[in-house]
Amino acid sequence: GKYTKADILRMVKEDDVEFIRLQFTDIFGDLKNVAITSSQIEKALDNKIMFDGSSIEGFARIEESDMYLYPDYDTYETFPWRPQQGKVARLICDVYKPDGTPFEGDPRYVLKKALKEAADMGYMMNVGPECEFFLFQTDENGLPTTNTYERASYFDLGPLDFGENARRDMVLTLEQMGFEIEASHHEVAPAQHEIDFKYGEALKTADSIETFKLVVKTIAKKHGLCATFMPKPKYGVCGSGMHMNMSLSKDGKNIFADDNDKLGLSQEAYYFIAGIMEHMREMTAITNPLVNSYKRLVPGYEAPIYIAWSAKNRSPLVRIPSARGAGTRVELRCPDPTANPYLAMAVCLKAGLDGIKRQLPLVPSVDSNIFELTREEKKARHIESLPANLREAVLCMRDSDFMKEALGEHIFTRYTSAKLDEWNEYTRQVTDWEISNYLYKV
Ligand code: ADP
Ligand code: MG
Ligand code: MG
Ligand code: MG
Ligand code: MG
Repeated sequence: GKYTKADILRMVKEDDVEFIRLQFTDIFGDLKNVAITSSQIEKALDNKIMFDGSSIEGFARIEESDMYLYPDYDTYETFPWRPQQGKVARLICDVYKPDGTPFEGDPRYVLKKALKEAADMGYMMNVGPECEFFLFQTDENGLPTTNTYERASYFDLGPLDFGENARRDMVLTLEQMGFEIEASHHEVAPAQHEIDFKYGEALKTADSIETFKLVVKTIAKKHGLCATFMPKPKYGVCGSGMHMNMSLSKDGKNIFADDNDKLGLSQEAYYFIAGIMEHMREMTAITNPLVNSYKRLVPGYEAPIYIAWSAKNRSPLVRIPSARGAGTRVELRCPDPTANPYLAMAVCLKAGLDGIKRQLPLVPSVDSNIFELTREEKKARHIESLPANLREAVLCMRDSDFMKEALGEHIFTRYTSAKLDEWNEYTRQVTDWEISNYLYKV
């Protein structure tokens, strides 16, 4: 590791830290934390801080509710937006049971297990996410709305871009927290933005995505705006995705690149893509977890719908960007920023590894516009669609032994049942659309 216990104790003193937030993520991807004062830091570093797991949705039953937080020392970071005297620091934690074994309901553990399997095959996984979000106005009570007067579009700049100052502040804050920001820009829809940080080892990147969302929301609020990662907050404009760029390396070398291949890709890369495509429908409830996620996955807004890959075309589910060498990667374009990053990476990795282990053959790429193919043409080429809604996605997941193994029984069971409840509650609603389309004419 980067830091020892002594390092943390020293930094807490030197940084004048008053509060330490012990963070973890629940199965739905929501960041949770408990704050301790610096007087309790030794106890925390010795894995002695406890919480009631049964109060966290989907976590544990009453009978097994005592959970322990084991801080990952390497995640020590201070919050630049909190007071600079008596600072606030955070440590991201693993969740353990009283018997000293990892808790199966901890998403970080699920990713660690998948990474261990990769490591046993000699692989390390790198991930680079592209998180999109909207910056909307708040109302007179400071509550989020979907209102914006902004009219800017892709790559526009101020004064057209109303989010410029907030985005600048977000980038600077992220940099202070150790992020390497590669790019930030206005996105296609009014008030929509993207900030890209440099890829890194999967576990660290999953932690970073949770931190990223916290920073973006916090800084937006400071600017009187509200940031939302909701996949499709507005009908008729693009939704927010979180493309996941993935690669495997062996001994520090990207193994997806191969100069001798026509497309410059290795056999492992082709197997990896085949594994992702094989399991995609089963994984979609994880990569696209909300009822609202499926309103982004519709034609006309740059989001994928069909399970296909291409190294030429930007529209399919799996794109191979043109960079080669260290930048050789597989870009999965369906995930959105509401996905639990630990679980999303775990299932994508497991699917890719499955492709490699079983040496799954890859179907030919689709280099033309899939949306222009007829139903018959798609059928002839065996091009399947992503699940059309959360219900279909959860049903695909529920039938999948692969997903049960990848997530473990605990998360698998709780996740599918909570998501079906979410769907059922949603479909019983009477929506504005129904009122405006039916009420007056029937
Ligand atoms: P796009 O062309 O799709 O808009 P971006 O440039 O916005 O792509 O984002 C590309 C992402 O891919 C960045 O996060 C970058 O760090 C990441 N990336 C680059 N090389 C690799 C790699 N070898 N493995 C995983 N991710 C990578
Ligand atoms: Mg991008
Ligand atoms: Mg720092
Ligand atoms: Mg984008
Ligand atoms: Mg992209």
